[in-house]
Amino acid sequence: MEFTHEIYFDPTPKLKSSPVQIFFLPFNNEKLNCYNCGDKYSDTLSYKQKYCKQCLLRYIKSRVDNNEYFDVNIITNNTPCNKHESTRDINFTTRNIQEWCEVCSEISYFKNYYVQINTKIQHIFMEKDCKLCGKSIDEISYGFKMCSNCYLIHSGWIKSIFDTTVPILCLPWWDASNKSKACNHNLKFLTDCQKWCSSCFIVYVGCRHCLTTNIIFGITNQTKCRKCKRVSDICIDFIDMCGGNSIIAEYLISMKTNNQSYNKIACYMNKGLDPLNVYTFIECELKDICSKKTIEWIPYSKIDNLEIIAEGGLGTIYKATCSNNFVAVKRFSNSKDISRHFLNEINSLHRCYNTAFIVKYYGITQDPDSQIKDYMLIMEYASDGNLHNYLRENFTNIKWTTKLAILCQISDGLKTIHNENFVHRNFHSGNILSLKGHKKWRNKTERLFIEAEERRSILTRSGQLCPQFIEKHPGAIYTSRSLNSFISQLLNRPQHDKWDSSDWDV
Ligand SMILES: [Zn+2]
Ligand SMILES: [Zn+2]
Ligand SMILES: [Zn+2]
Ligand SMILES: [Zn+2]
Ligand SMILES: [Zn+2]
Repeated sequence: MEFTHEIYFDPTPKLKSSPVQIFFLPFNNEKLNCYNCGDKYSDTLSYKQKYCKQCLLRYIKSRVDNNEYFDVNIITNNTPCNKHESTRDINFTTRNIQEWCEVCSEISYFKNYYVQINTKIQHIFMEKDCKLCGKSIDEISYGFKMCSNCYLIHSGWIKSIFDTTVPILCLPWWDASNKSKACNHNLKFLTDCQKWCSSCFIVYVGCRHCLTTNIIFGITNQTKCRKCKRVSDICIDFIDMCGGNSIIAEYLISMKTNNQSYNKIACYMNKGLDPLNVYTFIECELKDICSKKTIEWIPYSKIDNLEIIAEGGLGTIYKATCSNNFVAVKRFSNSKDISRHFLNEINSLHRCYNTAFIVKYYGITQDPDSQIKDYMLIMEYASDGNLHNYLRENFTNIKWTTKLAILCQISDGLKTIHNENFVHRNFHSGNILSLKGHKKWRNKTERLFIEAEERRSILTRSGQLCPQFIEKHPGAIYTSRSLNSFISQLLNRPQHDKWDSSDWDV
C-alpha cells in the first residue's frame, strides 16, 4: 500500500527509531496489567501515562546506547539506592532512559505518548522550552503541549479495501487512548498496536519502533510507518464480518463518509502551534457524520426467541429479542447474493429515520446457516400490532379523537417519506403499525379533537351530515391486500442508483 504522495518525511526529526520494539507502553491506557508480561502498569508522575517497569528494565538491558529514542523526563524518588556510584539527590533529572533505575527513579512523563488527560485531576506541569530543540513552547504553558518543530503530522490518502481512497493522518506520537476521537465510542483492540472504532470506521495503527500512530479514516489492508517504513497488515476482516458481502460492507461504511471532511483531513499537515490540536480538528470535522444514526452490524447470536408473526412472498417477519428487548426481525428470503433489495430498504429507512412516526431500525444481521445466509433487518417492535387488526378489534370503541390522532400520525409519517422523495407503494392498514407511544400525541391535541367531535355532533343532528356519520361503522374497515414495495424511490437520483428501488411485500 503506497501513499499517493510518497516523499520522504520524518515525523520526529529529533528522535530515532528504536532498533528493538518498545513493549513497555500499552496501546490502551485503560489497561491495568501489562499485555506483554502481565505485571501491573505504573503511572508516570505527570499525566498518569501507563508503563510497565519490568518491560522497561528489559528494554534498557537490551540496549546500551543513549536516549535518542525517547522524549522522556526522569526524576528521582529519593530512595537510598546502591545501584549507582552515588545516591541521587532530589534535584536529579535525566532525559536518558538508560539512567532509569527501578529502585530510585520515576518517570515524570513521556512527551511523545498521548493519553486522555483529565485536566481537572492532573497536576499542572509547566514547560517553557522544548527539551529537544530549545524552542519556547509557551511562557505560561499549562498542561500537555508539544513542540511544533519536533513533532510533525503528515496527512494524505491511502487506498481502502474497496479501491477508493481514504484519508490518513500520521501522528508523531504513541496514541494510547481507548476512545474514538471522532465519536467517543470505545475502541476495539485488535493487537497490541492496532485498534479501531466499529462505529465510525477509524483505525489506529501504532509503530512500536518509532512510537508513531497512523489514524486511517476507513478500512485498509496495510499501512506503513512514515518514519521507519515498516509495513503493518491490518487485521480487520470487515467484509467477512458483513457475511462476506462487500456491497453491504461498503454500504455500511459509506454512511459514515463525508467527502468534504475527508478532503480537509487529507490536507491537514501541521496546523496551529500545538500538534495535539489535531484531535480537536478531527472531532469538529467528523461531528456531523458521527451524530447521524447509522445502521450497525448486529451479530446473529444476539437475536433470540424468533417467532414468526407474518409471512410474505419475499420475506418473513419475526418477533424476537435482542439484548433483552423485543424487536421485529425482517428476513429477506434468498438474499444471500442479492443485496440490492435489502440495501434499498435500509437506505429508505435510514433517510426517514429521524421522525416519530416511521418504524425505527436497529441494525442488520445475517442468518449464519450456511445453506440460507439470508440478510435480516432488526427493527422496532410494534407492540400494539397493525392498524387493520387494531380497527377490527376496537372499531366500535374508538372515539373520534383517537381516529383523528391516528390520522395525524399517519400523515406525519407519510409526509416524512414524501419529503425524502420516496413514495409508499404499499400503503394499507396492515402496514401501519401501532406503538405504545401514540397516546402522547393524542393528549397534546386533545382540545382540538374535542372541538371537532362537538362540531360533528352538531352537523349530524342538524342533518347537514348524512346518516353514515352518526353511527360507528365496523364494516367500513379496509381489508388490506398485499401489494408491492414497502417504500420505493420516487425520483431517480443519480447518487442513489446503486441502491435503486425494487419491490417488496411482507
Ligand atoms: Zn511488562
Ligand atoms: Zn537507583
Ligand atoms: Zn522542539
Ligand atoms: Zn468512532
Ligand atoms: Zn516506525
